[in-house]
Amino acid sequence: MPVQALGHPPRAVAYCGLIPSRMPHAMNAVKTLSLILFLAQAGLYAWAAHAAQDGVVSTSHPAASAAGARILAQGGNAVDAAAAIQFALNVVEPQSSGMGGGGFMMVYLAKTREIVIVDSRERAPGRANASQFAPDGQPLAFALASTSGLSVGVPGTVRGVDLALRRWGTLSLADALVPAIELAESGFRVNRFLADDIAHDGGRTALYPETAAIFRPGGRALLEGDWLVQPDLAKTLKLLARNGARAFYDGPLAAAIVRAQSRGRSELGDAGHGRMTRADLTAYQPTLRKPLIGHYRGWTLATMPPPSSGGLTMLQMLGMMERFPLGGVAQGYGPGSARTLHVMVEAMRLAFADRAVWIGDEDRQTGISGQDLLHPAYLAARSALIDPERRLENVTAGRPRGLDPARVSARRGGARAESPHTTHFAVMDKHGNVVTYTSTIEHTWGSGITVPGYGFLLNNELTDFNFLPAADTVSGNPGANDVAPGKRPRSSMAPTLLLKDGQVVAAYGSPGGATIINTVLNVTVNLIDHGMNMQQAIDAPRISVTHPAGTLSCEGSGSGLPAGISPASQLALRTLGHGGLDSAREDACQATIGSVQAVTVDTSNGRHDGAADPRREGTVIRVVR
Ligand code: GLU
Repeated sequence: MPVQALGHPPRAVAYCGLIPSRMPHAMNAVKTLSLILFLAQAGLYAWAAHAAQDGVVSTSHPAASAAGARILAQGGNAVDAAAAIQFALNVVEPQSSGMGGGGFMMVYLAKTREIVIVDSRERAPGRANASQFAPDGQPLAFALASTSGLSVGVPGTVRGVDLALRRWGTLSLADALVPAIELAESGFRVNRFLADDIAHDGGRTALYPETAAIFRPGGRALLEGDWLVQPDLAKTLKLLARNGARAFYDGPLAAAIVRAQSRGRSELGDAGHGRMTRADLTAYQPTLRKPLIGHYRGWTLATMPPPSSGGLTMLQMLGMMERFPLGGVAQGYGPGSARTLHVMVEAMRLAFADRAVWIGDEDRQTGISGQDLLHPAYLAARSALIDPERRLENVTAGRPRGLDPARVSARRGGARAESPHTTHFAVMDKHGNVVTYTSTIEHTWGSGITVPGYGFLLNNELTDFNFLPAADTVSGNPGANDVAPGKRPRSSMAPTLLLKDGQVVAAYGSPGGATIINTVLNVTVNLIDHGMNMQQAIDAPRISVTHPAGTLSCEGSGSGLPAGISPASQLALRTLGHGGLDSAREDACQATIGSVQAVTVDTSNGRHDGAADPRREGTVIRVVR
């Protein structure tokens, strides 16, 4: 595939200023801004069309994209813009991401060609223990545990962003906070996605009065088009601007976080109360990591190592699939064919079986390492299990160190379904520095607990740990994802860079809990096997299964995309034995999976571009000098 195919076709006229190149939904603020700039600068069009680009941002909200573009237009670099975007998302996509959570920021430094990850994953407090989600040997109900202080991990986002700015940014934290402060103070219009998430919140925004006051003022849920002003959040952002990241981890704000998470659902009694202390907050530090590097059909992927399972599990899938000619239409494969989808699904089932047993916070375990799971001989053996004509009956974890998979998987970790939320964005500056960043408060609305007086939500990230401890010396199960003090819960987040001949050609990622891994896999296969450009790769329908015995979820005509997985492919998958494809419906694929934001480089001409997901209000803005 020619590398330039990754850039998506231009969708907007190039002119001086901010260029929103993808506007799938109503994006009044950005449209207005563009118009003003266009009228003011139309005379410069001919010059601008040939001018150098300062960069490109892609986020799932137009106001967050505008925040990043503004920083780039002012001469800031990709890390500066990413910091501004992250804080802006706390304001405009508060249900998905913010100061009360964590994430993984992957940074490509053009000058040194280094790739570094800032791991700001939340950690379990010092008083956490392996049985906290099953105090009587029975797992607590997820709905109750995840809306109690017990689920709140020590937040990492503020120190993570601050660390990145100090290392590679040119702006102060105060400068990076300016767009977010303005958005919180002046307000913004609630979009369809935020309104839907309030309307279908499973009760989360009504549980705690401080959250209800913001999103259900006077007892009425905010609707699309309503204006949302967040004075408490603005005050908190200003506090950080004045006193630095430290103000989050020490002092009155830290005390308020500890008090807020000490609450729990009354149904759980004492078991629901949070265990975080001021000392846990003071001690929190992000971790700098090297990416996990993998190869697929001559391309290189730099992706997320543990404590996320994201990169490792995706690379396992790619490794297992490489022997199949997925792009070969003549051989019965090709995009959307049942054969291609079947091989992908079987690779997902095999990799997820390994993930359930072997992957957790590697800093805290002595079991199987990522290198064991990616060993070529091991992957070849796993791949040999895939039969293109037949669905595998029983899929269990493999034995990367000769451990007996039957005995190990006999005692699973009591994992539960992960929620489909969080957010992903990507940004590139004029120097070619790139940030690809997935950030989260875990479930939509996190724990539902807003820190009183400070206006931001706390995460429920600790529910990503095993609810039932899985460690078992007899079977050899390392309990890789059991709760332990200071440990990070296993994530699925997978910010990824795609490289060809050492050059970055794309940066992408997605939200979606465990489905993140499959979304990033779908996009990667679309790019590499099917030769799609990035926008096509994002728009194409996705398929996902996140449990070895699980049923498929897939995108069809009911998913609101230009084209879904065809009824013929669905029928063929059903015939092969895959579940989740309701035989009563011709088009049983109704899911919406992930939300990918990406930036790309066309190596033939150096052109920077972006692509964004129509599944949310994905918005690309190119900044031209
Ligand atoms: N808790 C999830 C994880 O870390 C957040 C991602 C998501 O739900 O999209 O994988």
